Amino acid sequence: MGQISFHTCDRMRELHSASLDGELSQLESVRLEAHLAGCPSCSAYAATAEGASRLVQQMPLERPSFPIVVPGRRLAVARKLQVAAAAAAVTVTVGLSVALGTVGGPAASGSSHRATASANLRFPDQELRMLQRASTARSHPRLAL
Ligand SMILES: [Zn+2]
Repeated sequence: MGQISFHTCDRMRELHSASLDGELSQLESVRLEAHLAGCPSCSAYAATAEGASRLVQQMPLERPSFPIVVPGRRLAVARKLQVAAAAAAVTVTVGLSVALGTVGGPAASGSSHRATASANLRFPDQELRMLQRASTARSHPRLAL
């Protein structure tokens, strides 16, 4: 057998860690066992890791005295809410623009300046009558009802 590289030993130690969790395929297990048989350094590492793993598994579970919060999940939910709020704001803005005639409609197919001007001057007579009624109501408060 030739010289064993550090890269190979690092990979085999990762495989050994996965084997402690029962996550190795049959082929990976065979490769690991072959490497451990020929590498005293990794064999010593494996023995130490197995002892530590056994010790951790034998320890009773502890209930923490404080709540544990996982911030990543809360941030993800907050980001989804921000995106939904932004989409709703865009939808409302576009809907109001279409309803007010500043976007879309027959006037918008031509120049956008014409569309804006027509929207601003759409009901000048009604605005004038409302202003006249308001000024009349102020001068005759009993008729304001
Ligand atoms: Zn090794």
